[in-house]
Amino acid sequence: MQFGQTVLVLRQLLARIRDVMAGEGDTQARLERIVQVIAVDMGAQVCSLYVRRAGDVLELFATHGLRQTAVHRTRLAIGQGLIGEIAAKAKPLALADAQSHPSFVYRPETGEEIYHSLMGVPILRGGRVVGVLAIQSIDRRRYSDEEIEALQTIAMVLAEMVASGNLVGPEELASSEAIAVPPMRLEGARLSPGFGLGVAVLHKHHQVVRRLVAEDTAVEHERLRKAVSDMHGQLDVMLRANGLAGSEHADVLEAYRMIAEDVGWLRRIAEAINTGLTAEAAVQKVNTEIHAQIARVSDSYLRERIQDLDDLAQRLLQHLVGAEDRAQRLPPDHDFVVVARSLGPAQLLDYSSSRLKGLVLQEGSANAHVAIVARSLGIPVVGQIEDVMARIESGDPVIVDADHAQVLLRPSAALRRIYERSSADRARRRAEYTQLRDLEATTRDGVRISLNVNAGLAVDLQPLSDSGVDGVGLYRTEVPFMVYEQLPTVEVQRQLYRHVLDVAKAKPVVFRTLDVGGDKILPYWPHGNEENPAMGWRAIRVSWDRPAVLRQQLRALIQAAAGEHLHVMFPMIAEVEEFRFARRLLDLELERHTSIDQPPPLSVRAGAMLEVPALLFQLNELVQVVDFLSIGTNDLAQFLFASDRASHRMSERYDVLSPAVLSLLRQVAERCRAGNVPLSLCGEMAGRPLDAMALIGVGLRQLSMAPPCVGPVKAMIRSADTAVLADFVSHLTTLRQASVRADLRAFAHDHGIALA
Ligand code: PEP
Ligand code: MG
Repeated sequence: MQFGQTVLVLRQLLARIRDVMAGEGDTQARLERIVQVIAVDMGAQVCSLYVRRAGDVLELFATHGLRQTAVHRTRLAIGQGLIGEIAAKAKPLALADAQSHPSFVYRPETGEEIYHSLMGVPILRGGRVVGVLAIQSIDRRRYSDEEIEALQTIAMVLAEMVASGNLVGPEELASSEAIAVPPMRLEGARLSPGFGLGVAVLHKHHQVVRRLVAEDTAVEHERLRKAVSDMHGQLDVMLRANGLAGSEHADVLEAYRMIAEDVGWLRRIAEAINTGLTAEAAVQKVNTEIHAQIARVSDSYLRERIQDLDDLAQRLLQHLVGAEDRAQRLPPDHDFVVVARSLGPAQLLDYSSSRLKGLVLQEGSANAHVAIVARSLGIPVVGQIEDVMARIESGDPVIVDADHAQVLLRPSAALRRIYERSSADRARRRAEYTQLRDLEATTRDGVRISLNVNAGLAVDLQPLSDSGVDGVGLYRTEVPFMVYEQLPTVEVQRQLYRHVLDVAKAKPVVFRTLDVGGDKILPYWPHGNEENPAMGWRAIRVSWDRPAVLRQQLRALIQAAAGEHLHVMFPMIAEVEEFRFARRLLDLELERHTSIDQPPPLSVRAGAMLEVPALLFQLNELVQVVDFLSIGTNDLAQFLFASDRASHRMSERYDVLSPAVLSLLRQVAERCRAGNVPLSLCGEMAGRPLDAMALIGVGLRQLSMAPPCVGPVKAMIRSADTAVLADFVSHLTTLRQASVRADLRAFAHDHGIALA
C-alpha cells in the first residue's frame, strides 16, 4: 500500500471498527467482527487478537484466518514465540518470513503453517502491554512503516476495549508486570513513614447529583437525617473493623462530627433544603461553598482540616445517591496502593484492609487527618506529588517509599526483593513503639524530658489519655476559628476551650492566641494584599492595632479555665513591648472577670513564642516579664535564613542542625535556665528524632510535637544519655560547616540511640 492509500484505508477501517464496537452483540462477537474487518481492509489472510491474562500469558481471543478451535485454547507465555516476543519487548515486529525467525514457535492447533509473513504490534494501555494484534499473509510480503503505524493506531483504539474489564477482569490486567514503560521515580513529601508495595488503585469521586429540586421539603429533611445517621453508623463500623476503636487515633472520626457541628455544616445543609433543594443538592451546594473557602486559604494545616469536610460531604452523598465511590473494584488477590488527588480519613478506611500497603497523594500535608489515620494504621503515605493521577496508571506496580519521600513506579524484580526484605524489620520496630506508650520519657542517665503534643482539633487531643504525654505544648486556636463563618462569640469560644481543658483532664494546655492574618486568612478577618504575608500584618501585630478580638479571646479563655490552670501564649512577638501590651490586655480581662459571678482560673501564666530573630537580642529583658517561652522553629528558621518555610525548593537548602542554630538554641536554653523561665520548643523539629536528640544536647527539656511523633522521639530519649550528648553537641557548635546532621547521625549510631 502507498502512504496516501494507507491513510485512507486506515480512516475507513477505524470508522468501521468504531461502528462494530458501538454495534450489537456481545464483546466476543464484536471482537470476531473487528478482526475480520482488519484482515480484509489490510489485505491480510489472518488477523488475530491476543489478550494478556494473569500469569503473564497471551491468550488468543479472536481470529480471522486461523482455526476457530484455537480461540481461547492457544496460549503463549510472554517472551514465547513471535507473539510473546512482541509483548515482551513491547515493540512491533514485521517479518516477510516469520517461520525462519529463531523465535518462531509452531502451534499446530492454529493451522498457521501456511502463512509466511507476519506483522504484530503490542496493544498498550497506560504503558502496559495488555495484548497483541497481528496480521499474517501467505505470501512473503514486506510491511511498510506506514502499515506498521496503521496497525499500531488500530491497536490503540482496541486497547480501551481490551482493558475495559469486559474481556478479562481488571484484576487480571492489574496483575500483569509492566513491560513497556521503564521504572520511574516520583519525589514527594513523607506524610506517614514506612514503605509498601502493591498495584495502583486510582481513587476518584463518582457521585452525580441528578435530582436537584425537592418535591417535598419535609421528605428531604428526613432523608438528610437518615443519611447522617447511616453515615455515623458506618463510620463506627469502620472504626471497629479497622481495630481503631479505643486506639490512640480513635476519635479522628469523632472529630469529623465535631467539625460538622462546629461549622454549622448540617445547619447550612438544612437551610439549603429549606430553599427548595433536595438533600443531595443541598449537600453539594454547601460543599461547593466549602471548596471556595479552601481556595481562599493558603495555610496548608488549615486547608487539610477543611478537607475533612469535603470528605464528609462525599460520604453523605454516597448515602443519599447511593453511588459507588471507588474508581474500580480492588484487585482481589493483590496488595494495593491507593493513588488520589486528596483523600479524607474515612475514605482511607474504606480502602483499609490488610492488602492496603500505601497511599500516594497529589496534595496532603503531615497535619492532614488522613496522614494521622494512616500513621495509626501503619500505612506509608507520600504526598505532594504533582500531577500524580496522570502519571500513575491503574494497575501499575508501585513501591511507596515514604521514608525517602519517593514513589517507585514499575520497580524491577531486584528492587522489589530489597524492599520486601526490609519490611520484616519494620514490623518489629512498630511493635516496640506500642510497648513504649506507657513508659516515661527518661534518658539513660535519668533525665526526664517533658513530651507534649501540638493540637488544633479534638483528634490531636486524644494522645493525652496516654500516660506518656505530659500535656498540650501548643494549642493553635486559629484552627477551630477556621471552620466558622464569622468570628465566634465569647460564649462559643468559651465552650470550645472548656472542652479542650476537659479532655486534657488537668494536664497543662498552652493556648496560643490567634495567629491569623498574613497567609492564614479567615473569611471574616480583615486582611490586605500583602507582598510578604508571613512577615506582614499577622498575629499579635493585628491585636496591637485592633485589640478587641484578642480581648474577647482572653475573656473566653479566662472563663473556660474557671477552677483550672490557664496557660496563654502570644505568637510572633518581635519586641518585649508587644508582650507587655498583650499581658496588659490579659490583666484587664482578669480584672473584669472579678466583677462577674464566676470562679477565676486557679493560676494564669503568660508566655511568648520565640519566632522572630529580633527577640533573641532582647532575652535579658524578656525573661524578666514572661512566665514561660516556647521556641517556634518553623518561623524562627524561616526568618533566620530568610527561607520561606512553605517553599519546596528551599526545604533542603538550609539545615537547622547547623553549628549556628544549635549554639543559638543553647544560649536561649542557658538564659532561660538562669532566669528560671520554663522553656519548650514546639516547631516541627521537636518531632524528628535526630533533631530532638540535638535539642536535648543543647539543653532543652520540654518538647511539643505532632501526636504521631511521640513514639519515635520517646524511643530516642530512652536510649540517649544527656551528659554524653551535651558534650558532643557542644563540640559540634565549634565546627565550621553548614550542617552537622551527618555527625549527629553517626553519633547516634555509635551510641546505640534509636532513630526511627
Ligand atoms: C512555629 O512557628 O514553629 C510554630 C510552632 O508555629 P506555627 O507552625 O503555627 O507557625
Ligand atoms: Mg509560627
